[in-house]
Amino acid sequence: MSHIFIYDANYRDIQTTVDTIFTQLEVDLQGRRVFIKPNAVHEMEPELAANTHPSLLAAVIRAVEDAGAADIRVGDNPGIQNYGRIPQLFRANGLGAVTGDYLENIGRGLIPKRIPSLGATDLYFPKIIFEADYIINLPKLKTHPNTGITSAIKNCFGYLAGGQKAYCHQISKDRRHFEHMLADIYHLRPPDLTLVDAILIPEGGGRSSKTLRYLGKVLASHSGVAVDVLGSSMLGLEPCSIYHLVAAAASEPVSVDVQALEIIGRWDVTEGFHLPRGFNPGESPVTTVSRPGLLEAATSKKLMVNNDRCTKCGECISECPTAALYFEDEILHMTQAQCVACFACMEACSQEALRLESLCPENKAASSTPTAKTR
Ligand code: SF4
Ligand code: SF4
Repeated sequence: MSHIFIYDANYRDIQTTVDTIFTQLEVDLQGRRVFIKPNAVHEMEPELAANTHPSLLAAVIRAVEDAGAADIRVGDNPGIQNYGRIPQLFRANGLGAVTGDYLENIGRGLIPKRIPSLGATDLYFPKIIFEADYIINLPKLKTHPNTGITSAIKNCFGYLAGGQKAYCHQISKDRRHFEHMLADIYHLRPPDLTLVDAILIPEGGGRSSKTLRYLGKVLASHSGVAVDVLGSSMLGLEPCSIYHLVAAAASEPVSVDVQALEIIGRWDVTEGFHLPRGFNPGESPVTTVSRPGLLEAATSKKLMVNNDRCTKCGECISECPTAALYFEDEILHMTQAQCVACFACMEACSQEALRLESLCPENKAASSTPTAKTR
């Protein structure tokens, strides 16, 4: 059985909490390659509690350094507003100020992997999550209108590069199918340690919520499933009503009954916590897209090259995991049916010559050329 530790904590004294966690959970990182995965998806300042707080990330980095890790990397893949802008996102949300040189652009260096719930379809993941000896997962505890909560398991959805996340949403047959994908992605490379930022969290509508609640807690365990069972229970959600939790628990010796867990520390159901209005465990939205034309179907945008900026360096072509990009007549083109909307090309372009533009004609820049070709 996985133990779960729950600590009273605040951002000011967070280093003491993290050092205690490393000792109590016997974290041994000597000579190991460590990847740290915060929830860094939004371009919002720390006070809005949408991302993992920078002070928690800083404390974990310090503890990993002190533990003698051979290599440390930190990274996350952003949401739809920040495709191709990972370093800029980390600067804007305050997390870049504590990562220093450890920040890794995990939108690059992608490899294909398959998960059971998607059959013979490849998804594209950063190599680093399979090369790391030890992964530390640092989610923020939040509610979510579709999935109930977003915490340890759903934070691993951020392994997926660029528009691949949008693709999973689009191709899911219903909510249960989508949440099976979340569980499968988590199990592709389950983190070795999870520390949940439950100090200051948004109420109700998740990251877009205007109201915040101070819980003053950090949850820690070697099992991401176990911390999510406890986290959802703290917010007044029944863990067995959360599909991705039930699906992930099926492959681990962890109960979704919070009473059956071995919890070290004090916890309570948070009185009067506002749950997301739209959350309905029985609901099932359906949208399906076919593989060709994925980029436009998943994003409603077209990949454009700004010819004034493009130096023809070929960096984007080397980075593309599906060989979708090529030069013809000195213009960059993309074979649309081969594009998997990962946006590694945008992450690779130092000239910011590649960008997504709306399919509405009035929004297209005059000097840009669409890369997509049907062939
Ligand atoms: S990486 Fe940027 S500058 Fe280089 S070829 Fe691609 S679009 Fe042009
Ligand atoms: S062109 Fe290649 S690198 Fe760019 S989004 Fe498509 S598959 Fe990814």
